[in-house]
Amino acid sequence: MEDIKKRLGEVSAGGGDDNIDRLLGMLALTGKKYNIEKIRSAYEYSKELHEGQFRNSGDPYITHPIAVAEIIASLELDSDSICAALLHDTVEDCSSKTSLDSIRARFGEDVAVIVDGVTKIVDLNIENKEEAHIENIRKMLLAMSKDIRVIFIKLCDRLHNMRTLSAKKDGKRRTIALETMYVYAPLAHRLGMQKIKQELENISLQYLDPIGYREVEKEIEEKYGQSINFIENARAKVDSKLRENGLKFTLEGRIKSIYSLYNKMYSQNKSFDEIYDFYALRIIVETELECYTALGMIHELFNSVPGRFKDYISTPKPNMYRSLHTTVIGRGGIPFEVQIRTYEMHHVAEYGIAAHWKYKSGEKTKDEELSKRLEWVAKLVETESDNADPDEFMHALKTDVFNDETFVFTPKGDVIALPLGSTVIDFAYAIHSQVGNRMVGAKINGMIVPIDRIPTNGEIIEILTSSSSKGPSRDWLKIVKTGEARNKIRQWFKKEGRAENIVVGKNEVEKEIRRACGPFTEAQLRDIVTNVAKKIGIQEPDDFYNTIGYGGLAVSKIAARLHDEYERIVEPEIKEIPATPEQVKTTKPKNIKHNGGIVVDGESDCHVKFAKCCNPLPGDAVIGFVTRGFGVSIHKADCPNVISGRQIPENRDRWVEAHWETQSPSATGESVYESLIQLKAENNLTLLADITAVLADMKVALMQINTNQRTEHTITVNLTVACKNVSHFNSIVSRLRSIKGVDSVMRGFV
Ligand code: MN
Repeated sequence: MEDIKKRLGEVSAGGGDDNIDRLLGMLALTGKKYNIEKIRSAYEYSKELHEGQFRNSGDPYITHPIAVAEIIASLELDSDSICAALLHDTVEDCSSKTSLDSIRARFGEDVAVIVDGVTKIVDLNIENKEEAHIENIRKMLLAMSKDIRVIFIKLCDRLHNMRTLSAKKDGKRRTIALETMYVYAPLAHRLGMQKIKQELENISLQYLDPIGYREVEKEIEEKYGQSINFIENARAKVDSKLRENGLKFTLEGRIKSIYSLYNKMYSQNKSFDEIYDFYALRIIVETELECYTALGMIHELFNSVPGRFKDYISTPKPNMYRSLHTTVIGRGGIPFEVQIRTYEMHHVAEYGIAAHWKYKSGEKTKDEELSKRLEWVAKLVETESDNADPDEFMHALKTDVFNDETFVFTPKGDVIALPLGSTVIDFAYAIHSQVGNRMVGAKINGMIVPIDRIPTNGEIIEILTSSSSKGPSRDWLKIVKTGEARNKIRQWFKKEGRAENIVVGKNEVEKEIRRACGPFTEAQLRDIVTNVAKKIGIQEPDDFYNTIGYGGLAVSKIAARLHDEYERIVEPEIKEIPATPEQVKTTKPKNIKHNGGIVVDGESDCHVKFAKCCNPLPGDAVIGFVTRGFGVSIHKADCPNVISGRQIPENRDRWVEAHWETQSPSATGESVYESLIQLKAENNLTLLADITAVLADMKVALMQINTNQRTEHTITVNLTVACKNVSHFNSIVSRLRSIKGVDSVMRGFV
């Protein structure tokens, strides 16, 4: 496996022993001018400040900043970045001995600004506290637009922390891995730093889905063992062909990263054999022209797979990635991918923005329509001087690198990037065309603003909508900045409200089915509606909704047909819920706390979801299932899905021990949990009023109430309530039982 890991490629060593000489040695090898005295002094200061502190692994703390500085040095960043890397944890962890002002006095404004930026984003937490989440991502983005080196250091810091994550014992591992997977790896990707991105993803995966990781690792090992011959054969052929034609080149054979294989297998549901680019050869040449020459030779040697050729040289990816990709058929009919690029492109592909200054791109980009997102890169290249001095170049980087975009937040804390100069109308359409079309006003940071207001970085925008809105105004076409918004507005005028009608119509149909029958999925709804529509001579569901929406057909007229289809399509499925992790994904937290009080496999503070099939409560015996979506779903130990699910051999290892944080259920504090109650009663007029009165009296939130199987004399009522724990639940049940006319009260829906 070591061999394979090597082939997967990892960023620098960063082994982290207390040896400044190794770092200085690395710097000497680059042949660039660094301020060695300043770096040495930052090291001495950091060492003094961290004296007596230790990592979870037991190593002296200074090993961590040194390791981070080594990774920064491997990206060939400037002296100030290296100093800031050495000092990045001092202000936070040694506040009694130093301060930002002392750092500024000793190492200058730039180092202080970077250390400050890194310090501010340490508390990023994507799981809890919506407000804090918003606040932290905002800080991060603002810091990013102030000085990109903050993000470089943060990424390298996270990389070293991930490499040493196994030393953490106290149940934080999964949370950290999740944050890495969702925040830092995508950030590295956006900056084009593929090497760091891949390593972050692979390590995170080891903690989020260790079983899946091992499965892929095993597949690779088996396939790799079988195929070493295959790769060597293809490699030899390519090598001699290129040599014959007098090309100078470097040839690498590689296999894809574990995470990207995992992703294809589980997210795109492909089997290992269906993944085309498991094997890849990479050809690195001097010039762009040679890339195309080499491509021609590859296509002479092997048959190509149609539709798999991609020219990212003439059309780079938004994160600056450039390469030619083609998939060809090798010996035995096995396909493999060939990537062809120049050395410069290769460096950019691995280190992204961090690498870009290293090379002087003599020629201007030919593709004038290159995404606007890249304007800042072009600017960087222009400001680069001939004798690339890292310090000078990084100074140029300090100007707002993201100044072609504004980052704003939805009220839920999602970050939306808008082209500079976008208005709140553009924002509304960036969210969804229906949000734009129904917009009647907007708030920024809680204050009503005119709709032509241009938001700035970090503002929270809330779009006010109304279902009675008559749609966009033609004036908006003159105000909006983005093509996306303009197109959507035009579309609306073209359809003259058809879209509105469809939404309204769909809403009415959904309401009717939910009221009379019960819950359903989007796919089931489509089936129901398609069948009913065909029966009345309408082919497309949207035409059907449109007709209802503009009032051409009353829902009451087709209600009976909807009910029939529901019974035919949905009810049999409800009775045989498959024991797959998928169903857990549909659990939507309402205004209810869902993460409280569970310890999984000895780890508290773990990303859990409560299974919809059994809705466990504190006090129930529970068990966890490690899903392929990076979470752990918690079931009651006696849930029928657990009993049948544990029979499935390939999932056996995914079941993990889980229990409530304390033995005393009441100690889980304020958390409430969704629980289901089914009640059978005499069909009398006051029943529902009595039920709601009991719940109101007990201060229990009623989240959903459905009645079905109504006969002349009896009725079944399904309730979803917010409940604290088992004994709380039992007290609710006994109060409900005491209502006049109630025959039985049970947990869960049958
Ligand atoms: Mn750190």
